[in-house]
Amino acid sequence: MKTTVADLEFEKLIPHDTIQTRIAEIAEHLNEDYADKTPIFIGVLNGCFLFIADLIKNVSIPCEVTFTKLASYYGGTATSGKIREDIDLVLDIKDRHVIIVEDIVDTGNTLNYLVEKLYQRNPASIKVCSLLLKPMSMEISVEELEYVGFNIGNDFVVGYGLDYKEQGRNLRDIYKKV
Ligand code: 5GP
Repeated sequence: MKTTVADLEFEKLIPHDTIQTRIAEIAEHLNEDYADKTPIFIGVLNGCFLFIADLIKNVSIPCEVTFTKLASYYGGTATSGKIREDIDLVLDIKDRHVIIVEDIVDTGNTLNYLVEKLYQRNPASIKVCSLLLKPMSMEISVEELEYVGFNIGNDFVVGYGLDYKEQGRNLRDIYKKV
């Protein structure tokens, strides 16, 4: 099934039900791995907003949720290489177990930047949970990347929180550029 977002055509890649099933599985792993801890989930806005909402509904351990905002695409379909930091973290993460929640890891540069920045605040641990990963695009491997929803190819994707020119975030499924 095809859809148009702004001036580009996209075709369905991952249906909503498949996303939900996978999210429940990831949450189950988190519930086991953090059973005796009270982790802080840090969602990376904007793209993570639907993913973290659905993920957190499946998390049954005590936890806290906060957000930061980073961007490297600036409305296009390729990473700009420069990271823009829009809001700082509000919670103190010293001696806390941090789980970064990302929509997608492409080159790994954004994630690497964030992980390095958070380590300066002396957390007890940092792990990363990303809904999507483009393994063939990775320039920097981030060892904290522990939980991945789906490995995808080098396609530009939209939907389920991810945008093209700020549109398409509302789509229930994930689509790739035709
Ligand atoms: P990286 O620094 O890993 O190259 O880029 C990560 C960020 O680029 C993601 O958090 C996301 O905002 C954006 N990004 C990477 N690939 C895609 C894609 O296929 N679609 C969309 N909409 N954003 C992407």
